[in-house]
Amino acid sequence: MYETTRPAIFLDRDGVINENRDDYVKSWEEVFFLAGIFPALQRLQQSAYRVVLVTNQSVVGRGIITAQQALAVNRRVVETIEAWGGRIDASYLCQHQPDDGCDCRKPAPGMLLQAARDLNLDLARSYLIGDAMSDLQAAKAAGVQGILVLTGRGLQELRRSAATDALRWLVAADLAGALAYIPGLPKARDWAAAPDHALASRPFDGLAGEAR
Ligand SMILES: [Mg+2]
Ligand SMILES: [Zn+2]
Repeated sequence: MYETTRPAIFLDRDGVINENRDDYVKSWEEVFFLAGIFPALQRLQQSAYRVVLVTNQSVVGRGIITAQQALAVNRRVVETIEAWGGRIDASYLCQHQPDDGCDCRKPAPGMLLQAARDLNLDLARSYLIGDAMSDLQAAKAAGVQGILVLTGRGLQELRRSAATDALRWLVAADLAGALAYIPGLPKARDWAAAPDHALASRPFDGLAGEAR
């Protein structure tokens, strides 16, 4: 299905697309989309980049919600993005806790590497947009250019990082701002507020590191 190697734009979810919550996003009712993300996502829809969600959801491993509930919330996020003219080609969710020692939880690059295999991605020309140092570390480990956004935990994360480290990251105010770093994107279109198209099919929407 994916014979042509393409670069990807990896998107962290919580703190980039929807509000991050210290007590985790546990249900659809706790999903609050950030300002300005739908026009930004519309630009990606028309681009040559694969668009891939990579999200740590230890809320599953901690026993707070089930894997099925986490997948259902994520599916609804993706469907909403698509309804507003965006495109998500695949989603990867790590359900593990930090001390599970899995290879998918960011800062490990497992989800990016798995996506590269599944979707035939050119990682060296790919980008990851995230609001945490663990996102940038995962990007670096996969040979992907990371961009830190200051939404979600981003500002706090930037303040916490050493000044010398902070200088190495690309930093943007938000998702729309992050796209300014990425070459080859179509210009922003006039904002179309009336989504009217079929939902794109997705090759994969499941948990990372699981048989599927
Ligand atoms: Mg995040
Ligand atoms: Zn994992």
